[in-house]
Amino acid sequence: MDLIAVRPEGLYCAPGEFFIDPWRPVDRAVITHAHGDHARSGSASYLAAQPSAHVLRTRLGDVALETLAYGARLRIRDVTVSLHPAGHVLGSAQVRIEHRGETWVVSGDYKLDEDPTCDAFEPVRCETFISESTFALPIYRWRPPSVVIDDVARWWRANADAGRASVLFCYAFGKAQRVLAGLAAADALDIGTIVLHGAIEPLNRAYRATGVMLPEGRHVTDVDANALRRALVLAPPSAAASPWLRRFGDLSDGFASGWMQLRGARRRRGVDRGFVLSDHADWAGLNTAIDATGLRALEDLADRLHGSGRELILCGAPKQPAALMQQAEFHHHVGVSNICPNIKAALERANAIRVASATEAVYDRASAPRQ
Ligand SMILES: [Zn+2]
Repeated sequence: MDLIAVRPEGLYCAPGEFFIDPWRPVDRAVITHAHGDHARSGSASYLAAQPSAHVLRTRLGDVALETLAYGARLRIRDVTVSLHPAGHVLGSAQVRIEHRGETWVVSGDYKLDEDPTCDAFEPVRCETFISESTFALPIYRWRPPSVVIDDVARWWRANADAGRASVLFCYAFGKAQRVLAGLAAADALDIGTIVLHGAIEPLNRAYRATGVMLPEGRHVTDVDANALRRALVLAPPSAAASPWLRRFGDLSDGFASGWMQLRGARRRRGVDRGFVLSDHADWAGLNTAIDATGLRALEDLADRLHGSGRELILCGAPKQPAALMQQAEFHHHVGVSNICPNIKAALERANAIRVASATEAVYDRASAPRQ
């Protein structure tokens, strides 16, 4: 049975009678995260992950909002719903729906890269996984976020030394906070003052209210001309063509987004620097996450083999899938020593099992009572 179907209002779960991230007002909306293309106003009631409460209220106002802790289970009509970290932005969640022994997961937006401003993506086993696929082409490969943040810090320092402001365009919710937390972690806040566009500060307040530490930014009118020339200015892309920018005088501009991997996108934005920093999974991340949803099939295989006196040995998992398997406690299921770094180690492990079981068989025969 299809637990999710597409209706004009959005993704609909019939046995639960709710919509996920509906694009039209509905009675009951389950929201994966507070970005505008997922959380829309007008619905009668909302359900979202507990850490998204402050950011959702910042964006939607005083709506009828029920929150659920990550992993907590809630019965809605005929289904059991739970929300699991998606690692995309603060409070982002995958929606797990269980109905008569069958499990579906709707990912919402997600990423596997590190992000100090939200909970890490959690692999959730399921039979059907509805995945976002913003960057589902092999050309999209992200460098580690800390490397990109170091690039931002170097660009800012060079501009500050040359006496011009650095204006970094980034989405006001998610990206701006990630850049701020990243610069703090990289010890790069000594370069100059951070100036925040008015669209960013309310979200920073929501983050702090949720317990996420962020460095302080200033309003442009509170900063003197000298400090402005060494400042890093964070602003949403919509500010790019606005008179707001004029007060910074001579400036260098940059844009932080996964789309900056495309030369055409960089050219269209017309900025001096593109920083490839995305809140979505890249090609490898999408594949890893989708593979991880199938861990149940591998567990079944391990159980079947074990039941017939054989063992499942895995080898050669790249770093990201290996970390996800560990996070999902799959290695305990298969046996830690049955997960090997390469084929040579796997063959040695297989041989060790063979020798051990042969010895066991000899021992069994030796210790068997004589007839
Ligand atoms: Zn999003």
